[in-house]
Amino acid sequence: MIQKNKSPAPLIVKDLKVYYPVRRGLFGKLQHVKALDGVSFEIAKGETFGVVGESGCGKSTLALAIAKLVKLTSGQIILDGEDISHYSASQMQPVRKKIQMIFQDPYASLNPRMTVRDIVAEPLIIHNVCKSSKEVDEKVIELLRQVGLDDYHANRYAHQFSGGQRQRIGIARSLALDPILVIADEPVSALDVSIQSQVLNLLSELKKHMHLTYLFIAHDLSVVEHISDRVGVMYLGEFVEVSDRDDLYNRPLHPYTQALLSAIPSIDPEEKKERIILEGNIPSPINAPSGCKFHPRCRHCMPICKELSPKKSVITDKHYVYCHLYTEKDKKE
Ligand code: SF4
Repeated sequence: MIQKNKSPAPLIVKDLKVYYPVRRGLFGKLQHVKALDGVSFEIAKGETFGVVGESGCGKSTLALAIAKLVKLTSGQIILDGEDISHYSASQMQPVRKKIQMIFQDPYASLNPRMTVRDIVAEPLIIHNVCKSSKEVDEKVIELLRQVGLDDYHANRYAHQFSGGQRQRIGIARSLALDPILVIADEPVSALDVSIQSQVLNLLSELKKHMHLTYLFIAHDLSVVEHISDRVGVMYLGEFVEVSDRDDLYNRPLHPYTQALLSAIPSIDPEEKKERIILEGNIPSPINAPSGCKFHPRCRHCMPICKELSPKKSVITDKHYVYCHLYTEKDKKE
């Protein structure tokens, strides 16, 4: 049965968990990789919500979970007011067109044997949204123009294009069905730096003109800063800090966010910036540290951090953080 929630937010995610079972050896103990360990957030209409973190923090699993391409362990995903958390593959069929993805690798994500026309037309044909093949052709040309490609490009093959142009083709395909939510998973990380800003600007312009809503995932904080309205910082399958962009970049509160931001080179040569070096690697999500998962790498670690997971501390209505430095402060105030 379709459950409808009255909510204006295109996406609401509540306490989402994705655990992958793993067994070491034939008779080894069954353990779980906790790729997502209780993630909650909303994205408002027309908003770009950026997700950042080191590789292995769960960003890409989040993208796959929202698109229902991996099995959820628990939690809720509400898309456009519809709770799709327990939908089967066949129930997802009509919902699929509401969520579209832009992939990281524009070289691997486009079929080299198909023309650009066929690549962009594919979702239109699968979901039967055009009345005739003439209408499909017209829609394809309209989409190519929207992403800055020319009409004659429709008859060429993907391998005849540069990386940036291929990503434009992928974007055109993702917009073909007027999605409620576009998930962009590292959409510029495979591109040259000079091309990255062109693609980011295109995504921003399309958002403005087509009132799109993006979940934008990247490991590069400068890229996320460029495009996002709000940003969530992930560490070992959890958000550690969520804030509107300017507040996060001007006033990072979580020690992990502070360390990530300290690594971005300043454009002002006069500015003296302390580089915070993160000790060690991101721990295994099979055996995550007790208490605050960041504690083995945190330079502010206190005894309580090793024992208790920090609760959410609300700093402003748009900025919250999970760190005992702020819960302890709350208690004193
Ligand atoms: Fe560091 Fe403790 Fe805050 Fe975790 S809770 S980030 S260990 S100060």
